[in-house]
Amino acid sequence: MVEIKENISLKPYNSWKVGGEAKYFVQPTNKEQLKEAYSWALEKDIEICVIGGGSNVLLSDKGFDGLIIQTSKFSELKNEKLENGFISFAALSGTSKSEALKVFLKHKSMAAIFLTGLPGDIAGGVVMNAGVGTNTQPKEFTEIVEWVEVLKPDLTFKTYKHSDLDWVYRKTKGWQPGIVTEVGFKYKHEPIDEVGKLMREATKRRIRTQPINKPSGGSTFKNPEGYTSGALIDGLGLKGFTIGGATVSEKHANFLVTDETGTAQDLLDLIKHIQVKVKEAHNVSLETEVRLIGDFE
Ligand SMILES: Cc1cc2nc3c(=O)[nH]c(=O)nc-3n(C[C@H](O)[C@H](O)[C@H](O)COP(=O)(O)OP(=O)(O)OC[C@H]3O[C@@H](n4cnc5c(N)ncnc54)[C@H](O)[C@@H]3O)c2cc1C
Repeated sequence: MVEIKENISLKPYNSWKVGGEAKYFVQPTNKEQLKEAYSWALEKDIEICVIGGGSNVLLSDKGFDGLIIQTSKFSELKNEKLENGFISFAALSGTSKSEALKVFLKHKSMAAIFLTGLPGDIAGGVVMNAGVGTNTQPKEFTEIVEWVEVLKPDLTFKTYKHSDLDWVYRKTKGWQPGIVTEVGFKYKHEPIDEVGKLMREATKRRIRTQPINKPSGGSTFKNPEGYTSGALIDGLGLKGFTIGGATVSEKHANFLVTDETGTAQDLLDLIKHIQVKVKEAHNVSLETEVRLIGDFE
């Protein structure tokens, strides 16, 4: 039987290290346990939220008044094949992106460069259609995914082909409602000798341009049409601007970082402050890329 815990702090389960407690919390290790937990919540009419790496979520200081399904133990790679010029494999949705990277690296694939430094797990990558700003190929999750399996609210597993889904900027539509359980990857096999060198360059670029040694949620805002959010925020002199324990990073203005006193409310207040300033100066509305979970003021 899957163990559903109560009143668990969510701070360790997100990259900002903020947030209150989950009323109920579960870490399934296989599909049966995941189904059991989902069924338990559905029967009791309890709201659920799935988090993987927690690197793109802002979890409320008030916590989450439902069941958090945290997937770091829901991890497995399988069915790796090299066939007809393609690398393919499947991964349970809580498998970290770095595990998928290792498979592509073994085949000296450009997909390994794409995945270099991308935090979180496979499902987070699919749900967010995670991508990189550099001009490499592949540059978004949509390019490496063949199919997505979802546990639906009627407790059946449904597999969506890539083309069944609508892959847009930092969002994938068409699989909801449900929980992403497994992902099939497929990418052309075109080995690149300098893959190691290109990965080291990608890592250096992240270290140079992102505050990766501090707690952050990555890019806070999506880039509005025709702009980059970081440039808009930087242009207003907001680098270093602080509310409570949350600060606009000096390295990258679209990254908000926290110190040990930082709270989710500090981050939200900072987000709102930036949105107001950018709207006043440029008449541009910044939409958060990070997903807000739980109740906020
Ligand atoms: C330092 C840093 C650098 C980053 N760089 C990038 C970057 O270059 N490009 C980029 O795109 N992003 C970047 N991000 C943001 C983030 O890492 C990505 O969006 C990542 O793909 C999120 O994965 P995750 O497992 O952490 O997702 P989470 O934050 O856990 O979840 C993200 C969303 O997916 C939902 N979700 C998670 N798992 C499931 C599931 N199994 N079923 C249904 N829904 C689910 C959650 O409810 C939430 O809405 C960065 C973040 C940090 C902290």
